[in-house]
Amino acid sequence: MNKTKKNKTKKNKTKKNSKLTPCIICKKYNFEKWAKLDEFMARKCKNCGMISINPLPEQYVLDEYYEGYFKDSKKDKKLWEPRKVSYEIDKAWITKYVQRGNVLDIGSSGGQFLSIFEPSKWNRLGVEVDADTADFAKKNFGVNVRVGDIMDLSFKKKFDLIIIRGVIEHFIDPISILKKCSTLLKKGGCLFITATPVSDSFAFEVYREKWRLFTPPAHLHFFTVSLLSKIVKKYGLELLDHHYQYQETPYANTQKDFKKIKNDLILFDKGLGKSVHTSPPFPGSMMTAVWKKI
Ligand SMILES: [Zn+2]
Repeated sequence: MNKTKKNKTKKNKTKKNSKLTPCIICKKYNFEKWAKLDEFMARKCKNCGMISINPLPEQYVLDEYYEGYFKDSKKDKKLWEPRKVSYEIDKAWITKYVQRGNVLDIGSSGGQFLSIFEPSKWNRLGVEVDADTADFAKKNFGVNVRVGDIMDLSFKKKFDLIIIRGVIEHFIDPISILKKCSTLLKKGGCLFITATPVSDSFAFEVYREKWRLFTPPAHLHFFTVSLLSKIVKKYGLELLDHHYQYQETPYANTQKDFKKIKNDLILFDKGLGKSVHTSPPFPGSMMTAVWKKI
């Protein structure tokens, strides 16, 4: 369910919720304004550090936004080539902890990530809201994808591995989904959340609305590893390991990225922030983590 900034709809969606909701983690109403793009305001909880778009957009705004997203992203070869490399990196990382069994990919898109899990070792299942996308997975990769909202679906079996890749930040209510994941995992099974933006990253702090991962209404919630751990601990999951992807990814260009940040910091310092463009990829911006059901 990834979406690049350039694909973002330009339409001005003025119809929206106007009521603030409490922090999704600590339930407090103690916010500081963090970043604003169009009519979407991100607020940081002063109590726990969670950052969310608040007020959240109405469902129909999201439906309109995602209409045709897969068609657009499939066409964009430039998007898929580096992503394939990222898939291999992610798979190598998670298979240190779980090597075979039933795997469920929530928000599996067209089955691209699941397709690299060998059918000889894995019973692969995806979940997607879009029927055409599910068909694509079956036809192109032989991957079964169930169509629907994960919250409405029931499953006969439990899973050794549940993947949420570049998706948790898109859901209106990610907490319910994390709770459901816990019920779907076998004892000893792993929850793998990867390619999700980090709320306390240096780049978000510096760039705010110009951070490359600040893409409302696609990205609605910005977690940290410790905030996610706090949520899933309540549902019987404990953190096994985590990592921040950067150096090893096809998106990183260390010299160029650090040079841009350095130049931009000078511009911000001089009060010339308006001339700064979108942030580069930077260490600490994206997280990967695995929790085990105990
Ligand atoms: Zn909070």
